[in-house]
Amino acid sequence: MKNNLKIYNSLTGKKEKFEPIVPGHVGMYVCGPTVYSNVHLGNVRTFISFDVIYRYLKFLGFKVRYVRNITDAGHLEDDSQEDKISKKARLEKLEPMEIVQQYTIDFHKVLELVNNLPPNIEPTATGHIIEQIEMTKEILDKGYAYESNGSIYFDVVKYNKEVDKYGKLSGRNIEEMIANTRELDGQDEKRNPQDFALWKKAKPQHIMRWPSPWSNGFPGWHLECSVMSTKYLGEQFDIHGGGMDLKFPHHECEIAQGRTANDVDPVKYWMHANMLTLNGKKMSKSTGNHLLPREIFSGDNKILSKAYSPAVVRFFMLQAHYRNMLDLSEEALQAAEKGYKRMMEAIQSIENLPVSESTDFDVAQWEKSLYEAMNDDFNTPILIANLFEGVKFINQVKSEKAKITEADKKRLQKIFEDFAYEVLGLHKQDLSGKNNDNQTFDKVIQLLIDLRNQARAEKNWALSDKIRDELAKYGVQLKDGKDGTTYSFQ
Ligand code: AMP
Ligand code: ZN
Repeated sequence: MKNNLKIYNSLTGKKEKFEPIVPGHVGMYVCGPTVYSNVHLGNVRTFISFDVIYRYLKFLGFKVRYVRNITDAGHLEDDSQEDKISKKARLEKLEPMEIVQQYTIDFHKVLELVNNLPPNIEPTATGHIIEQIEMTKEILDKGYAYESNGSIYFDVVKYNKEVDKYGKLSGRNIEEMIANTRELDGQDEKRNPQDFALWKKAKPQHIMRWPSPWSNGFPGWHLECSVMSTKYLGEQFDIHGGGMDLKFPHHECEIAQGRTANDVDPVKYWMHANMLTLNGKKMSKSTGNHLLPREIFSGDNKILSKAYSPAVVRFFMLQAHYRNMLDLSEEALQAAEKGYKRMMEAIQSIENLPVSESTDFDVAQWEKSLYEAMNDDFNTPILIANLFEGVKFINQVKSEKAKITEADKKRLQKIFEDFAYEVLGLHKQDLSGKNNDNQTFDKVIQLLIDLRNQARAEKNWALSDKIRDELAKYGVQLKDGKDGTTYSFQ
């Protein structure tokens, strides 16, 4: 297997040659969602970024074990220090596991819609309480944690002095951090405001709790990822990913936990995906500055003038490099829609291209440029730009301005299959009109929309409402906008 892959390692701040710990095998862990609400498009961006990374590693021939957790306990709200899932369960008068189930299903559905592959293992925090208690014990035994009123805290200052620099991933300095921290509720239990909980004693109103040697309580959020990553990938593994916002404190704490419990740096390559913004600000659940996938796929939102399909949204996301910020806007989505369609049409038309005795295109060089883009820290925007060189050539052959041989036609087809579908995970579309239920369906709905418009023009409200309501029963929602009526699935 040829491997020229370079990965930007957040730990060193450099692009490094990718050399897995066990040749030919890759262990990859990505922080999953906290399932207390619907995932927003920002979350989806991060998971698409790592889906492409997973896909490319597999495409190169690595045997990849991809672990992505579900956080179903232990993630506290910054202000109230209440568990996010417990809080939602309390507010909605539901069992915490009902909340977890509802939003885990939503998460899976959304990722399937955007064509993500499932990870190999998807462990939950609540399924690993015993392991979390064990790791807490190990850190206590090594002397880098202490008990305080039934809770166990990691001693950041002692770690920083005796083991390794706390802040080496995020580039922070512990002394400055301490100087800048204001005292928060409950921190009087800690020796230092930067110390973080490995185990928390549950307050009386806290619903999710488990017995432990120290108290009835629950594990800290940072601990679950250390436990689940090392359980399935080993004490030291190749790639750990997540959104940029998890670098500190979450991932910094994971390093400290691994260094003390197992005496090794847990991760060889730390990878961080950049944020999706809306109106120039980070998309985020807590600030309300977000769009849900359902809202964009149905067009049911106040920000965009129409619906955009999951395929277009995926293409839009991949047109930016995963380490760059990306702002969601109507213009960008429209451009992505056009680009995606143009690429799909070109791929579909390869089969019917007229063949000649020679080819006016350096297929080998072009293929090389596709590998080079991805080998350069998974540069999907360059890959897409290079794929469009192929699209341009196909269109030239179509209009008989260039020639291609039968063999090169096959090669071109295979390369598009590989890079557009397998690596980028773009949705395959049958635009031929043959065997295409979607196109027939689309025409039937358009016919009903026309009939409804006719009824409305004749002020036959009974009929126009009937068409809209009956379609709604089958899950087809009509939306009247300034450019006419569109439909989407509920
Ligand atoms: P959470 O459920 O909040 O733990 O987030 C799940 C994942 O989504 C994490 O890797 C976050 O870093 C990531 N994430 C959160 N907000 C955004 C955003 N606006 N853009 C990209 N990724 C995000
Ligand atoms: Zn995590």
